[in-house]
Amino acid sequence: MKRSKQTNGEIEARRRKAEEWRRIQAQRAAERQRLRDYKIALARDEVAVDTTRLAPSNSYSTPDFVLRGTYRPEPFICKDCGVAEVWTPLQQKWWYETAKGDVFTAAVRCRACRTRERARKSAARRVHLEGLARKKPPVS
Ligand SMILES: [Zn+2]
Repeated sequence: MKRSKQTNGEIEARRRKAEEWRRIQAQRAAERQRLRDYKIALARDEVAVDTTRLAPSNSYSTPDFVLRGTYRPEPFICKDCGVAEVWTPLQQKWWYETAKGDVFTAAVRCRACRTRERARKSAARRVHLEGLARKKPPVS
């Protein structure tokens, strides 16, 4: 009786172990599939670089996207809130070719933090300008 109970326990333990193993394998397969889909998306979503529109740079090195000839989605972690976001090829194209952003700069803040940072800077500028206006000597 005792022996059979132990065996049942062992069988149950083995069954649980096998179940757990299958669950982990399925999880890994899903993870691999996600990575594959992501890489496919990366390749598909690349946008051509127009080097004639880039801001001039004095650096002797060449940014990766110029060597590659395409902008690709760049995942990054927001330096303010730690959220993961993707800097899209079209956002990069706009930043480098229209806004003439330095070719060695990259996105560091998520959209929400960027908006907040812009508001903070403009508020700081306003306070600074108001302070200057107060300090101005009276016209004599
Ligand atoms: Zn953020």
